[in-house]
Amino acid sequence: QAAAGAGSESCAPPVCVLVLGMAGSGKTTLVQRLTAHLHSQNSPPYVVNLDPAVRELPFAANIDIRDTVKYKEVMKQYGLGPNGGIVTSLNLFATRFDQVMKFIEKRQNTSQYVLIDTPGQIEVFTWSASGTIITEALASTFPSVVVYVMDTSRSTNPITFMSNMLYACSILYKTKLPFILAMNKTDIIDHSFAVEWMQDFEIFQDALNQETTYVSNLTRSMSLVLDEFYSSLKVVGVSAVLGTGLDEFFVKVSEAIDEYEREY
Ligand code: GDP
Ligand code: MG
Repeated sequence: QAAAGAGSESCAPPVCVLVLGMAGSGKTTLVQRLTAHLHSQNSPPYVVNLDPAVRELPFAANIDIRDTVKYKEVMKQYGLGPNGGIVTSLNLFATRFDQVMKFIEKRQNTSQYVLIDTPGQIEVFTWSASGTIITEALASTFPSVVVYVMDTSRSTNPITFMSNMLYACSILYKTKLPFILAMNKTDIIDHSFAVEWMQDFEIFQDALNQETTYVSNLTRSMSLVLDEFYSSLKVVGVSAVLGTGLDEFFVKVSEAIDEYEREY
């Protein structure tokens, strides 16, 4: 009887990891670190860069949007500013994404993971037709997980934290995919304060009360809504710079996919 699942030639399709998050949250650095980690485990991922405006990529991408669309030229040609240039570049790329899918599919027996880095500004991807097209193409072909990267060091204010979580929540409902919250930059600040806020409504309310003398009913109601979101949320603390938390990260990825496949 053959051992199942062991070795790189196992027949399971690769898992697609879609990395989203606010500008500067550390998406690109995390993709770099995940790539290095997988290489060190003899499981090189297939890496896709979807940010047309990134100057230097700290990892070797198998597919790089910048090879296909030159965002500066797109700006000139269509008379656009930087944001319009990025959105239009992604739109142009999305029209050819079927070709990208063919490349990824060719590699599906050799890579266990497909890592996708997305544009710096999150809304370019999450609130555009092209982002939706790309997400749906990937998720309909591979087991996929959305990783929402949060800058923990910039989320120590309870209102900022709540805004960030509302955004994460909206992405969960928009993509309806397995979802992981990666609390990044734990080398600057431990993420335990945030985990505590998510686990204990009272502690979060106390933090809110300290922040503002007047906490509106809306804020309270929203945090009750988020309580529901938190209860099923997978959270992992990582440092993309140090590379800590990555083993746990991959455990959460597997769990998220397994649970999703059991449910649907
Ligand atoms: P992106 O816009 O989401 O792709 O963010 P980047 O990966 O470009 O990172 C933005 C900034 O945050 C850079 O200066 C990174 O060096 C820094 N950064 C990313 N991850 C970490 C981390 O885990 N710890 C610390 N201290 N800085 C980080
Ligand atoms: Mg980036």
